[in-house]
Amino acid sequence: MKINARYKDLKDSYLFSTIARRVAAYTAAHPEKAVIRLGIGDVTLPLCPAVVEAMRKAVAEMGEKETFRGYGPEQGYDFLAEAIGAYYAERGIVLDRSEIFVSDGAKSDLGNILDLFDPDNAVLIPDPVYPVYVDTNIMAGRAIRYMDAGEENGFLPLPDEGEKADLIYLCSPNNPTGAVYNREQLRLWVDYALANDAVILFDAAYEAFVRDPALPRSIFEIEGARRCAIEFCSFSKTAGFTGTRCGYTVVPQELERGGLSLNGMWLRRQTTKFNGVPYIVQRGAAAVFTPEGQRQIRENIDYYRENARIIASALREKGVWFTGGENSPYIWLKCPDGLDSWAYFDRLLEEANVVGTPGGGFGRNGEGFFRLTAFGDRADTEEAVRRLARM
Ligand code: PLP
Repeated sequence: MKINARYKDLKDSYLFSTIARRVAAYTAAHPEKAVIRLGIGDVTLPLCPAVVEAMRKAVAEMGEKETFRGYGPEQGYDFLAEAIGAYYAERGIVLDRSEIFVSDGAKSDLGNILDLFDPDNAVLIPDPVYPVYVDTNIMAGRAIRYMDAGEENGFLPLPDEGEKADLIYLCSPNNPTGAVYNREQLRLWVDYALANDAVILFDAAYEAFVRDPALPRSIFEIEGARRCAIEFCSFSKTAGFTGTRCGYTVVPQELERGGLSLNGMWLRRQTTKFNGVPYIVQRGAAAVFTPEGQRQIRENIDYYRENARIIASALREKGVWFTGGENSPYIWLKCPDGLDSWAYFDRLLEEANVVGTPGGGFGRNGEGFFRLTAFGDRADTEEAVRRLARM
């Protein structure tokens, strides 16, 4: 028999285990030092009260014969899909119910969507970026071409007319760089995709962090995107669902390739391989879109945004080059003094007792850069910034 030998081509995910090992060694040697972690991409604030209350009610319903629910629709309950549709409609984006697919998170959908595409497709992935795009394509045996992101393009690569691509990954606001595409830049991508018969896989997991009305929060704000894009979104960072698990993917009805409707294919894929998100979780997710849910999650996002602002202003004062931190929970800085990512990691750990994420873990072009996150506690963030200022 033959196994999928492409798994051998995957890089071991050394990044977070190496970080944990180095931090553990440092704290064992210096037990008196209070280490602050600004490296994780996980949230720290709890679920908001509106979500908790909705889930509590849903649990009670599940315990009564009259209101108990078994298998739900694979593409999500109407009450949640309709709330998601209304959320888009507020921004002038009209979606049909059939275009919204509720899932257990963006990571699964980003991996699973590749079921719809042939392994021979040419795929374009920005470097650096969220590593899931790269690994899922390696598992599927697809050759990857990287788009260079760097200081020169603000970590926002644009299409190269001379290059033919079938699948294009865009992540905005970006993990790890915090960079956000503007409308003109996304228009170039949509035009390129339409001209090349390509499909854009648009990861909008951090859209709720965008507050500048001039910046797009969805690819569907761009005319023509309904014919060339799929959008992935998540309640993880918006509403603290990293452990609760819920997300959604939008596949427009107009999107067709090779004579097939991608919406129809995704529906077929999901109804075959996925059995839906728990009713209790979907009730919690729907509460995010109620007026009090929106107010409460906005408070949490504002808390993280303020952390980002605190870090960004400290870096600005020190004259350190960075992107992000404004419409994003990530701050991506250039390692001072020409240090490489791991050398800066060690220096930050030893001199400031602050943990971040070395940029090299997100791709070749991440070397020499460093990611700090705004998902920490406020007091910790302020203390970390004081220590950074003293360095
Ligand atoms: N997309 C990006 C860019 C992310 O950074 C993450 C999580 O860190 C995800 C998707 C995964 O989201 P989810 O928790 O919904 O699977």
